[in-house]
Amino acid sequence: MNLSTPIEKIPRIGPFYQKKLKTLGIKTVQNLLYHFPHRYEDFSNLVPISKAKFGEKVCIQGKILEIETSRTWTKRMTLTRAIVKDDSGAIKVIWFNQPYLINVLKKGELICLAGKISMGKASKKSPSEIYLASPIYEKIGSPRELTHVGRLVPIYPETAKLSSRWLRYILKPLLLQLKGEIPDYLPEKIRKKEKFLSLKEALWQIHFPRQIELAKKARVRFAFEEIFKIALFTLKERVKLNKSRSIQTPLNLDIIKKFVASLPFKLTDGQKKSLWQILKDMEKNRPMNRLLEGDAGSGKTVVATAAALNTVKAGYQTAFMAPTEILAKQHFQEVAKLLSKFNVNIAFLTGKEDKFSSKKIKNDFVEISRKKLLEKTAKGEIDILIGTHALIQDQVKFAKLALVILDEQHRFGVRQRAKLTKKELIPHLLSMTATPIPRTLALTIYGDLDISLIPELPKGRKKIVTQIIPPEGRKKAYDFIRKEVKRGRRAFVICPRIEGKSETEVNLLLTETKAVKKEYEKLSKEIFPDLKIAMMHGKMRPKEKEKIMRAFKVGKADILVSTSVVEVGIDVPQATVMMIEGAERFGLAQLHQFRGRVGRSKYQSYCFLFTESPAKRTSQRLRAILNSQDGFSLSQKDLEIRGPGELSGIRQSGLPDLAMASLRDIFLVEKARNAAKEILEEDPELQKYPLLKKGVEEFREMIHLE
Ligand code: ADP
Ligand code: MG
Repeated sequence: MNLSTPIEKIPRIGPFYQKKLKTLGIKTVQNLLYHFPHRYEDFSNLVPISKAKFGEKVCIQGKILEIETSRTWTKRMTLTRAIVKDDSGAIKVIWFNQPYLINVLKKGELICLAGKISMGKASKKSPSEIYLASPIYEKIGSPRELTHVGRLVPIYPETAKLSSRWLRYILKPLLLQLKGEIPDYLPEKIRKKEKFLSLKEALWQIHFPRQIELAKKARVRFAFEEIFKIALFTLKERVKLNKSRSIQTPLNLDIIKKFVASLPFKLTDGQKKSLWQILKDMEKNRPMNRLLEGDAGSGKTVVATAAALNTVKAGYQTAFMAPTEILAKQHFQEVAKLLSKFNVNIAFLTGKEDKFSSKKIKNDFVEISRKKLLEKTAKGEIDILIGTHALIQDQVKFAKLALVILDEQHRFGVRQRAKLTKKELIPHLLSMTATPIPRTLALTIYGDLDISLIPELPKGRKKIVTQIIPPEGRKKAYDFIRKEVKRGRRAFVICPRIEGKSETEVNLLLTETKAVKKEYEKLSKEIFPDLKIAMMHGKMRPKEKEKIMRAFKVGKADILVSTSVVEVGIDVPQATVMMIEGAERFGLAQLHQFRGRVGRSKYQSYCFLFTESPAKRTSQRLRAILNSQDGFSLSQKDLEIRGPGELSGIRQSGLPDLAMASLRDIFLVEKARNAAKEILEEDPELQKYPLLKKGVEEFREMIHLE
């Protein structure tokens, strides 16, 4: 038995459980051992029976004097009653509806019980007396120490209907069977420096801790492991990239100056600095790998467009990729507008299979066939090709691609980049995001990127008036929306996020859809029967969503009711009101993203946060958003309060849960990253660390599987 033994070989796991485990992705001993508890029940408080008091959670040990089972008079319930005695006294024990216990627990046996002391009702025959209610039990007598009671007991997330009791029953013997040290892929040097528990000890302590401190210590070690692997992966990708060559595009100061002068506004300092960094990178013969971070509305597109223009004027092509068709179209229109005086061929490519619609512009928009468009791209006649993922399909070939621009797509790796060009030369990459995340985090999860930042919004933008609306303020808010609509403005209504523990994604989507439909009914029938209301949710097909979004954009609807699927970056200048239902259910960064959907024009805009609960802490958290229009500080707060899962880019990154949770600890991330750097400097190919190498490979595969 070793870590890579498949679960089929583990005694006690039959086909039924094998199947369940596999649905959780657990295939090997290692997977199973790395299925960690999410909390512990403290049943270590062992008391003499005579000391057990009403209302307390206790753990007792004793002998079963009697045990019997009976049905209650209504016959709807079985009661299993026992008397358990130790040296100090005896106590009554009652289990409800567990008739099988009579076959498991026998008179005369020694057992350990953990549960709460309750009080029975007094009757004519007997005064009220205490009893132990439905305790967890474990027989004593086996040579090993207790597993389910009398200790810190691990509680596992009960997904796939695997009970914690069953997992303990499997895991304990498994750990006992692993003889000797388990080969550890954390290099000893690091283990020593960080004073980590050995792998075997850490596994024991995370599942069956002697003290809670040791469980914590183990968890830190595993968290480090996860981040360390990710960091190694991204750093290695970067090394690979640094060895490759790219097309050098010289900075054409003339054309950049002309471009800047042609804009109807002045660039902000952040835009200028970022653009400079990008253009400087692209002069080098090593591929740029840069992330442009800036809040919604900070003007990232202009910066990207300038870089594309410089590329075109150097004689090369640019690919510009957006996550959805609506956004790609929006970019296409904006880039075309910004470059209208520069004689650049810009095209739009999107859709599925043969249904691509494609356009080409010089000074006018001209429709051409998809086939034609691909031909022109392959010949290098299209300077900037804008689109969705369609851009990295095999049929799309560029003659001389030098720059790839990505909007809000964090998982674009070296491999996809290589796919865009079959040449030796790797294109430069400019990735853009409005999800403000701390630098170390960005480096760790998005890959080892250089970062440019646009910290400010353009001057003259009106602050979005943000208010928390208590239930009694609802009518006033609706009146306000009506007034805005009468002036030709539009409003978003975001429905609350539905959260569920064991719910599947599909179920959540269904519930969310229901909520939207209900809200839509309410608004269109009761509140605003005179206004045009549209609805959008995640169950709609992209085409449908797009249709609705477009209708809203051109004013065929006054109010759009939606789940959180409203695109990041969608631009509707007339939209001035953002109303968010159940605001407390969203993270601050996400609320801020929603707020960014309005205030994209000269009109004063508003964001109303409706809360369902008057809970003080909730509104305290929400208050942070009233005082700050700064996405970075808000996301930092989110990170502290709710962990990194809330930051949209990170949630989409598909990292394992533990890694996700670990990223909250920026300090640990920093440490893991530095350790990864050190190891790679010493041994770039990880030849001395075969296990580690394998771990990183596995991580790479997992990341690419989606
Ligand atoms: P984002 O960073 O969210 O992608 P955009 O690039 O879409 O932002 O810019 C939002 C709007 O601000 C656009 O209409 C753009 O023309 C405008 N804009 C960009 N830069 C400036 C600036 N320096 N001053 C004024 N308006 C600007
Ligand atoms: Mg944008």
